This record gives sequence, C-alpha cells and structure tokens, in this order.
Amino acid sequence: MNATPFYLDYAATTPIKPEVIDAVSLVMKTHGNASSVHGFGRTAREYVENARRQLSARYHAKPSQIVFTSGATEANNTALQAFKQRPMIISAIEHPAVTQTALAIGQPIILKVSSDGVINLNHLEELLKANPQAFVSVMLVNNETGVIQPVKEAAALAKQYGAVVHCDAVQGAGRMAVDFKDLGVDMLSLSAHKLGGPQGVGALIVADNIKLEPFMMGGSQEARRRGGTENVAGIVGFGHAVSLLDADFAVTAQWEAWREGFEAKIRAAAPTAIIVGAKSLRVCAISCITMPGVRNDTQLMAFDLAGLAVSSGAACSSGKVQPSPVLKAMGINEADATSAIRVSSGWGTEPQELEKLAQSWIELYQRCSKTIAA
Ligand code: PLP
Repeated sequence: MNATPFYLDYAATTPIKPEVIDAVSLVMKTHGNASSVHGFGRTAREYVENARRQLSARYHAKPSQIVFTSGATEANNTALQAFKQRPMIISAIEHPAVTQTALAIGQPIILKVSSDGVINLNHLEELLKANPQAFVSVMLVNNETGVIQPVKEAAALAKQYGAVVHCDAVQGAGRMAVDFKDLGVDMLSLSAHKLGGPQGVGALIVADNIKLEPFMMGGSQEARRRGGTENVAGIVGFGHAVSLLDADFAVTAQWEAWREGFEAKIRAAAPTAIIVGAKSLRVCAISCITMPGVRNDTQLMAFDLAGLAVSSGAACSSGKVQPSPVLKAMGINEADATSAIRVSSGWGTEPQELEKLAQSWIELYQRCSKTIAA
C-alpha cells in the first residue's frame, strides 16, 4: 500500500479551499439563469456580480472590465483571436494556450528569453521596431520554472510602438499581488483552479480602450463579449477563492523558506543538479529541478510509488519524452531538459511533504547514480 499521497503539483491545479466548496455548494442548491429577469435569475445575477466585484478588488480592474470565461485557455484564445490581424509577438516560454493559438492563427514572432528564463527586452524592442502596431503576449509567471517576467516594463515598451499587450497571469495571480492597472497591459488572463477555486472557470480582464470581438458566439452575456450562460456556481467559487488570497499572501515568505530549504538539500546531495531559473526572481512555490542522468518519467513513477505527486514540464508523446520547449528556449540541453521535474506547492502544503520529497529525490538519485556508474 502506498504512503499517504502528498500533493506537490499546485501549478497543475490546486485543491479547492473548503470555504470555496461551501460557497459553490450553496449556489448549486439554487437555480436561475443570470440572464433571466425573474427573481431566480436576479439572484443568480447578484451572485455573478458579487464575484465580479471580488475580482475587481483583487486585481485592480473595474468590474465592467472583467469577462468570465471557461478558463484561461478560453481567455487566451479570446485575446489572441481578437487581434489576429496584427503581427503577433509571443514569448518563447508561453503556455500552449497561447503558443498553439498563435500557431493556428499564423506565424508568431518569437521573443527570446535569457538562460535564466526571463524575456529579453532588447529583443522585444527590435521586434517592435520591425513590427509596429503588433500584438504582444507575455506571461506574468512561467508555469514550469516559476520565473517572474518583467511584464510592466514590456508593456510600457510595447505601448511606445502602438502594440496591444496581453498577459497570461495564471501562475502569478494566486501567488503574488497582481495589479491590472499598474501592469499597463490591455488584457489579462486568469484561471480559478490555480488559486484555490474550481476548474472550468476563468476570466479575461479587458481595458476600456479594447474592443473585444467575442470568441464564443451566442447570447449577449458578459456585455456581448462572451456568449454562453454563465457558470454561476463556478464564478462564485472563483470570486470566493480570490477573496481568500490574503491568507496565502501572508505566508508566502514561509513557502519561500520551505522551498529554499528543499532546494538546498538537493544542491548539497547533487551539486550538478540544475535548479532552473534559480538566478531569477521566482514566485514562492515553484521549483524546476533536473536530476542528472535520470529521465523525468522514471522520476515521476518512482515518486508516485512513494506517494508523492509532482510533474514534469516535458510533453510525453508516443512513449518518447520530449524536452520542454520552455527549457529548450532557455538553452538547456536535451539530456538536462528531459530530466527536469516541477515541484509546486500552495495553501495546503505542509513542510514535511517537501522534506519527504527531498529525501525520496536524494535516495533515487543515489540509487540511479550507482547504476549509471556500474
Ligand atoms: N496559462 C498558464 C500559464 C497555465 O499554467 C495554464 C494551466 O495549466 C493555462 C494557461 C490554462 O488554464 P486553464 O486550465 O484555466 O484553461
């Protein structure tokens, strides 16, 4: 029998906070379409508008600027599709919800990142000069490395060249303060299940000057910016999760200290292991670590057997582990990239979970090193 599974994959999805489950359950016991004019509908509408106010307060946007969606994938698709006639500049480390959309639209222009995983602002300026009136998409925090991107600086630069700027803020929105106004972007994507809320609900925050063509055609919901009946219970869960984030922000220093302790143990046991992006500014609870000589699928299986849930940044297709495009863009070689795992924690994590992972990691590394040497 496996040990109690320890969940260290918060960047994939977070557990829903108990208070959020209560709020969602309460709404699920009611019914009403938020577009209906009768009392049931008005109650549903009030739920939606209350959540909109909660997002508005958290992310410093006007309630009218928030468009609820089915998640960040839809938010990203909406943002990119609305500006598909413009030259599209995307960073080399964007999530597939941006890269695949950009590729489906045409030939995106790829903004380089440094070996530390940070977008290159000089390169951005070159690209903007060559492609005035572009559309630029730069994420706030990379989902594999946790590296924070200079989005405010990128947006200010892009504005000088008449660009429209989108930011996928999914991995930052539950781990650090995010201020839509201060970032200076035109559109910002969010997802509830990355911050203690339910899956299948997200939002696109849209500046007043942006005329957003709906991506989901249908009714006139969300001020004609997104057709489809609102997911009232999901939206309530999203709003509630966002309203609870102060409790997380109060302990991020603690999370950071746990991560530092975890990474220090790995470094001491395996000096050639790479802590990806460690020289950059990172959010508090994501580590991307290579285990020299050991493929990440082997690691994931071993950790799973030990009751530890982590993930790899690499996509596995037809049985072959592919190096992650993010790590590749950072210049990390194939052998290292295919030996990287991502460890991400959050509101429910206990320090002993990271201690157990460090112990299992070191045991596996030492066992595999002996096999490799033999
Ligand atoms: N953007 C980033 C950076 C993500 O990490 C994810 C989820 O993995 C998404 C977008 C997609 O979000 P959703 O699951 O809400 O569609």
